[in-house]
Order: sequence, then structure tokens, then C-alpha cells
Amino acid sequence: MQQPRHRIRSRNGRRSRLGPLAALAALALAGLTTASATLPVSTRASAGPVAAPDTTGLGPCRIASVLGVQMSEGLPTPAGYTRSTGEVSALNLMIDFSDAEGEGAALDRLAEFFPQTSEWFRTSSYGRLAYRPHAPVGDWLRMPKPFAEYGLDRGSPYEPGYRALVEDLVEVADAEVDFSAYDLVNVIVTPNAGPSALDTVLSVTFSGNDEAPHADGVPLANTSFVYSRQDDGSGSYEETGYRVLPHENGHVFGLPDLYTAQGGGAVGHWDIMSEDWGANNDLLGWHKWKLGWLDNDQIRCAAAPGTTEYALTPLAVSGGSKMAIVPLGEDAGYAIEVRTREGNDDAVCEPGVLIYHVRSNVDTGQGPVTVEDSQPDSGGCTRSPNVHAELSDAPFRPGETFTDKKNGVRVLVVGEDEGTYRVRVTRS
Ligand SMILES: [Zn+2]
Repeated sequence: MQQPRHRIRSRNGRRSRLGPLAALAALALAGLTTASATLPVSTRASAGPVAAPDTTGLGPCRIASVLGVQMSEGLPTPAGYTRSTGEVSALNLMIDFSDAEGEGAALDRLAEFFPQTSEWFRTSSYGRLAYRPHAPVGDWLRMPKPFAEYGLDRGSPYEPGYRALVEDLVEVADAEVDFSAYDLVNVIVTPNAGPSALDTVLSVTFSGNDEAPHADGVPLANTSFVYSRQDDGSGSYEETGYRVLPHENGHVFGLPDLYTAQGGGAVGHWDIMSEDWGANNDLLGWHKWKLGWLDNDQIRCAAAPGTTEYALTPLAVSGGSKMAIVPLGEDAGYAIEVRTREGNDDAVCEPGVLIYHVRSNVDTGQGPVTVEDSQPDSGGCTRSPNVHAELSDAPFRPGETFTDKKNGVRVLVVGEDEGTYRVRVTRS
């Protein structure tokens, strides 16, 4: 079966063009356009669009964003994306067309994604993201032109077809919808419009888009479109088909795609930005830190030469030390975390210490993250459909060592006690 493709298109060229004053203006605008314009709390300063001075001692481990990268893994996430902590109001609009009339009730289509998506974010964020879905229009919104006429092929941001679709959508919905009351928009398309997701995944997100059409004085800058159904016939759609939406919304919060043109082989099922079909999965600890769901004091920074031991608790469980980072220069590093079969991680078949390489200078869809496989060419431990099998047994077990000779990095998993793993990092 074809691998899912959820390319994102974001336009953040402005962050390399604008000076600090303009950036502040953009931030103020972003604040005004949110329903509850609470700025991120400073103790969670790693996340969101606000660049805080580094008072954490984590300096070299806060791998910085790189100019010229459309959507970077680096910290902090630039302005223009939706705030990822606190209460977030999502506007859901269900649309259909004269050549693809809505199948069943629009609210039934919405129920394919909620409350599961809100629950997913609540679990992944340890309760820090309160995702509130709204559907002020309970019926299908009929677009004025047939689907075929929009000629949607997921091109550049707000390409003519998408621009026309969004402008038409605003016109059709405006009397009933105050667009300025929401933080993000989900356009949920009747599943019979366009190709089957088995053939072509059309679902896409335009995030941080400064060329988006405006409505009620705000740009529709963070908008996800969901098409078709990610139904492979295995009978799991009811349980896991919603996961395309948390993936697309991940872009709205500033996360890049981790799959590449070769598929999910770089990160496997260890992050929903890598694979969003099949069994439920969580986000990497790096993404949780980037989103402000982990505090700075839950991060350990292995920047200095020598040997240090860390005790890490499972990522899926709230509280405790979650991640050790081994920085390699200014735009890369290793992240080390514990993954277990809990929370959103339904597909974990071999719990242990996951080690992965993060590069802030590699763009979305080009492989910004690579998981290190403790057992290369093993075939993996999962038989779960739509889960990249090879990396499913990637975590390192007690007694196992990861070595990067070139960079003089060695990570030994010393032991495990009631879910807490002791990890010894040696840097030469
Ligand atoms: Zn995507």
C-alpha cells in the first residue's frame, strides 16, 4: 500500500526578512487574532512563538532554528504558528460540492475526528493543550463550484485552487462564522471528493502562511484540510482513522514532516509527524519540548566532555526527567528518551531507550530526524498494519550501547528499575 503523504506548505520567508520590530508586530497581531490571547507562561519558555532569553543552562542543547529552512526542528518555533499550550479553539467547517455531495450528516463526518483529536492532544501534552473543537455550522457548506473545477493538487501555499476554495468558503460561511474567534481552522471535506487516500493523500496544512486570505480581519494562516478516509480495509478506521488530523494540526503548531520521499524509514512509528496511519503513536520528546509540553527542568544537557548518568522516566508518563540531549555543533544533536506502551504509544512492542539525531538545518520532509536502530535489519517486532516494522525494535535495552565514533559519543543503557532507565553518556 502506498505510503501516506501529508506534505505541508508553509511560508515563513518573512522570518528571515523582518527585523525585530516587525517580528514584534507580527507577534502582537498573532496575539490579537487568537480567541484567548494568553501568551505562553515564561516558565514554559521553550515553546510557542515567543523567543525567550536562555536562562536555563540548556544553551547548547537548545538547537537553534536555521534561516532559510522553511520549517525547522530548531528552537524556538518562530511567530506565525498557532500557540501550542493553554486553550486552543479550533473552527471545523465541513464542506461538500455539487459533484461530490456530502455523504450522510456533516456532524457524523466531524465525529470521525472528535473527541478523539482533543483527547490525543490532551494525552500527548500532559493536559497542557486544551483543544476545543467548534462547529458553528452543523451542516455541509456547499462550495459554489464543483470540486473538479478547483483543480486542487496540493501545490504552493494558497495556490490559485486553494485560494479560490478558501475565499469561497469564507463567503459561504461568513454570515454564521466569526473567523476571528478561533486559533486554527480544520476544513473537513466530504470523503467522496477527490481520490481515495489509498491512492493519493490530499490532506494538507497551510501553516504560518502570510499570504492567506483574510476573514473577519484575520488571516486564515493556520488551516488544515482533511480529505477522504485513511481506511485500508483492515477494520481499524473507526479507532485510528482520526489520526490524520492531529498530524495536520501538528503543522499548525510548527512541526515539520518526518517522513521523506522514501516513506517512514527515518523515524518509523515514533512520531505522528512520521506515520499517522495504523496504531496510535505519540510525538518525540523533542517535539514535546518544542511545543512547551515538557519543562526545561525535565531536559538534561550533555554538552561537556566526560561521563554523566541520567535517570529518565517514560515519555508517556507525566513528570520526571524526560530527555537527555547531546548537542553536536549548533544545528544538530542526539536526543535520548524512554518509550513504553502507554498513553498514545499503542504500537510499542519493545520498550526501551530511543536515540535519535535531530538536525535543525534539514527541512520538513527531507529527514530532519533519524532514529538510531539498536537492531538493524532485524525486521522489527511489530506485526501491526501500517507501522514501519524495521524501527519498531529500535530502542536500546539495558546493557546495550550506542556509539558514534566520529563525534566521540557513547550512550550505554545501564539498567531499568520500575520503568525508570539509567543512561550513561560519555563524550570524548
Ligand atoms: Zn504532514
